[in-house]
Amino acid sequence: MRYGSRDRFARFLTRADGRDAAIRIAIFSSKSYTEAFFRAVNDRGGYGHDVTFLEPRLTRETAPLAGGYPAVCIFVNDQGSAEVLADLAAGGTKLLALRSAGFNHVDLAAAEAAGIAVVRVPAYSPHAVAEHAVGLILALNRKIHRAYARVREGNFALEGLLGFDMHGKAVGVIGTGRIGAIAARILHGFGCTLLAYDLHPNAELEGIVRYVDCPELAARSDVITLHCPLTPETYHLIGAEAVGRMRRGVMLINTSRGALIDTPAVIDALKSGQIGALGLDVYEEEGDLFFEDLSGQVIQDDTFARLLTFPNVIVTGHQAFFTREAMQSIAETTLGNVRDFEAGRKLTNRVTREMIAG
Ligand code: NAD
Repeated sequence: MRYGSRDRFARFLTRADGRDAAIRIAIFSSKSYTEAFFRAVNDRGGYGHDVTFLEPRLTRETAPLAGGYPAVCIFVNDQGSAEVLADLAAGGTKLLALRSAGFNHVDLAAAEAAGIAVVRVPAYSPHAVAEHAVGLILALNRKIHRAYARVREGNFALEGLLGFDMHGKAVGVIGTGRIGAIAARILHGFGCTLLAYDLHPNAELEGIVRYVDCPELAARSDVITLHCPLTPETYHLIGAEAVGRMRRGVMLINTSRGALIDTPAVIDALKSGQIGALGLDVYEEEGDLFFEDLSGQVIQDDTFARLLTFPNVIVTGHQAFFTREAMQSIAETTLGNVRDFEAGRKLTNRVTREMIAG
């Protein structure tokens, strides 16, 4: 698709000298770090797009801010519902550029109906997320979060800090795509036994993981780490029934998407000891919490607040992706996606409805 002079947005794209002008992009949920990386890549990378940084999350209320912007760029907690997409389309948006790999927050059928192409950043740094998942495993196992606080208080006692050797433990990896495969390789390096479950086994992991079905993975794993996307099939994949099949005291890690886990069921399992440790970088209702400094406010989400009371739970605020390399790559790929769109080239990173099937 190309914006030509016949297009109703030609006024944004044709300069006085007749050459195509930079495409206008409205970037929602922009933070200082978003702006820093996007500005640098846009300027030094020679993209020359006309970029506007907007702090609000994209919602029905804020969608009018995108009026007149052919390209809108959003992150994981922005809303891509049918209503929001219709509002964007009415305002002239033709391209929705996700600064994420996951696209579960966008109604792809509605985007198609509204004539909005959706592109994403399929792989910015799978290492960043896999390394963070392993970081959560190590921190929970060796109680680094508790040791840090203790030592600063002058408490050097070891009671309560007992961990286990990772070497020889069974780790179950659900979803062995880009991120899950790297997590598996890192854990293989620790001497763990890797079990895996995926709809499409990854041939490159032959000799590293053994593919099993979900019940076997649950029954045999000391640690389970989630790396599959959120789809209708994986919604609340980890609920009371699945938790009941796991080893008592299992460690569960989720750096993928919050709604893979039924949080109240997991809280019950933490209370009973069925789950021995929980590491989360994502939370089903994170949209109202994450990426903001709420330290002076009272958290209204009682389920989330309960999670924070457990000594054997670590929550990070969707930071697994947050490395220099990933931010650079997100900015480059996103601005490249917009350039492809502007130039009428094939959108190699386009997201389609067929991809939801996994
Ligand atoms: P990927 O597409 O490379 O791999 C996903 C894997 O999951 C694929 O192998 C796929 O076959 C498998 N899968 C799909 N449906 C499944 C099902 N029902 N059961 C089991 N396996 C299934 O994706 P990726 O780049 O590895 O990313 C994985 C997820 O990580 C993303 O979907 C995203 O939600 C999440 N993520 C989180 C962060 C973060 O900062 N926390 C950053 C990037 C990505």
